[in-house]
Order: sequence, then structure tokens, then C-alpha cells
Amino acid sequence: MGILVSLIIAYSAYRIAKEAVAPLLGEAPSRETLKRIEHLAKSHTGVLGVHDIIFHQYGRTNIVSFHIEVSDGRSAFDLHALAESVEESVAREFPGTAIAHVDPLNTKHPRYGEIERAVTEITAQDQRVHSYHDLRIVGCQAERCNVVFDIVLTQEASEQEIYDVARSIQEQFKKRFPEMRTIIKAEPRFAYSP
Ligand SMILES: [Zn+2]
Repeated sequence: MGILVSLIIAYSAYRIAKEAVAPLLGEAPSRETLKRIEHLAKSHTGVLGVHDIIFHQYGRTNIVSFHIEVSDGRSAFDLHALAESVEESVAREFPGTAIAHVDPLNTKHPRYGEIERAVTEITAQDQRVHSYHDLRIVGCQAERCNVVFDIVLTQEASEQEIYDVARSIQEQFKKRFPEMRTIIKAEPRFAYSP
């Protein structure tokens, strides 16, 4: 009987400790939380996209960081003000610290539109790819440019699988734009289904 009672007490203590410690160790944020942060950021004019959201809860304090895509045509002064107002609206809903990292996209590049459409189509056709972001066209010499972007995979993948996905996207892109060079970075970490 004594052993049983002590086992029950030990178990309750374990449960209480686990509940108290879990948020301190960092639980994975819910899909709703991530979607909400994305929505809050996107509701600011000038925010073209949101990605790499990291959400941590330490007791009642939230630490949120995320990237916002913006046009590179705006001044650093302007972009700082935008980042700050996005941070404020996120911190209002998730009290604590919000940090917005600014990713400028050169959307005014003459070939941006057609390249963006192609990347959207190619990545949408690959079920292993959840989304892409940070599309930039850089280092142009005559017709040849570097097309740089990150892809987010739908699920955890091995180094080899990541390489294969990036490779196959690269090959398809090459068929459409043989003169371009693609630099693709893949990140399986923060994927979530919409
Ligand atoms: Zn980014």
C-alpha cells in the first residue's frame, strides 16, 4: 500500500513538473499561432511575404522572430519604420519581444515578373516543396543573372533528399532560362501546411 501511494505521489510530481517545464524547454508553436503571426505581418502595406517564423514561450513571455519580404526600392529609414510597426503589432498580441528581419527583394528588376511566375509554377508542381521565399535576381552580366531563392520542404528531409529536390528544381528552371544560374537553399525546419 505504501509503495502504491508513493508511486502515485511520484507520478503526480512528475506530471506537475513536466507541465511547468515544457514551456520553458520550448514547445513547438501551433499552426494557428504561426498563421496568425503571418497574417498580422502581412496586414501591413509593404510586407510582400513572411517566412522563417520562430516562436518561443518562456513562461508568459513570448520571443517571436520572423522575416518580412519587402521591396528594395524603399529607404532603409522607411523599412526600419515598417519593421518596427510590424513588430509592435505582433508583440501586442503575443506579449514579449518581436523581431522582424528585413529581406529586400528587387521586384523592380525587368525580369522579376516572369522569373517569379516560373519559380511559382515549378515549386507548386513539386509536392516535396511547401513554399519558396527570398527570390532575388542578382549579379547580372548581360543576359546572365543569378536567381537566388530559398525553398521550404513539406517535411523533414535528409541531406540527400534536400539536395535532390533543389537539383530537380534547378534543372527545370534551366530548361526555361538556360542563360540563368540558380542558387537554391532548402530549409525543412519551419514548414507548416496552410
Ligand atoms: Zn529570409
